[in-house]
Amino acid sequence: MSAKWTLTVDLDLCVNCHNCVLATKDEHIGNDFPGYSAAQSGAGVDTIRIDKHQRGSGTQVELTYVPRMCSHCDDAPCLKADSTGALRKRADGIVLLDPEKAHAPELEALCPFGMIRRDAGTGAAHLWSFDAHLLDAGWEMPRAVQACPTSALQCAKLDNDALAQRVARDGLEGFPGMEAAKPRVYYKNMRRLTHALVAGTVLQETDGRPDCAAGITVALHEDGKERARTVTNGFGEFAFAEIPPQADRIELRLSTPDGAEKTVPLELSHPHPVEIRL
Ligand code: SF4
Ligand code: SF4
Repeated sequence: MSAKWTLTVDLDLCVNCHNCVLATKDEHIGNDFPGYSAAQSGAGVDTIRIDKHQRGSGTQVELTYVPRMCSHCDDAPCLKADSTGALRKRADGIVLLDPEKAHAPELEALCPFGMIRRDAGTGAAHLWSFDAHLLDAGWEMPRAVQACPTSALQCAKLDNDALAQRVARDGLEGFPGMEAAKPRVYYKNMRRLTHALVAGTVLQETDGRPDCAAGITVALHEDGKERARTVTNGFGEFAFAEIPPQADRIELRLSTPDGAEKTVPLELSHPHPVEIRL
């Protein structure tokens, strides 16, 4: 089995700087790469976009930036549905859209994940080409990876065994809903999208005023069983970052160093500003 290009996206590291988006535009706006991709217009098309995902509630929220692009799927639905002959997958895994056929009207609809997009200026369809024209010229990475200041984006050419080892080692996952297509873009720290965050602040009365309650034990119970526990920090804050989405009947059970206890029921399906007063 020959090695194929694979991109990994670490959701803990993306800071929404858009360098990857801009570097890709810089490479492709006004530049025609025959056999690889048509020139993009300034009005343009985002072949890489940064989505946003928020979890948590009230003042305790976490924002995750999610780079999205063509995943160069190994079992690509776009290729199966393509009657235009515009799409092809190379032996190195890269899916390309023939610039000579990029004006076929049905192309956008061929990707069920919305990763084939039409340039508002030229009318040509595009996908993120992995900058195959650069890799073929000896580059070790596409412009997007080169421009990423945090190494949130990394790429490698891996055969299936090496990919399986990397997936197991780093806890990589395909984007939710894309599993059957066998994407070659993998995400690290996907819990930021797939799991709930329960975080809050514990307050106690001091001299008649609310004050941060440090050192309070907070245990998270699901269906009556303890799933995790933590202790509030100096600001009275606590967080549980890996609550499965199907979790039901969540309770927070708080206990103070002097033995006082309090139980707070939560429903994950509803926003819940978690400010707990002892
Ligand atoms: S993400 Fe869409 S366009 Fe890219 S290979 Fe997969 S199905 Fe095709
Ligand atoms: S360059 Fe890297 S850190 Fe910046 S938006 Fe893109 S993936 Fe995120």
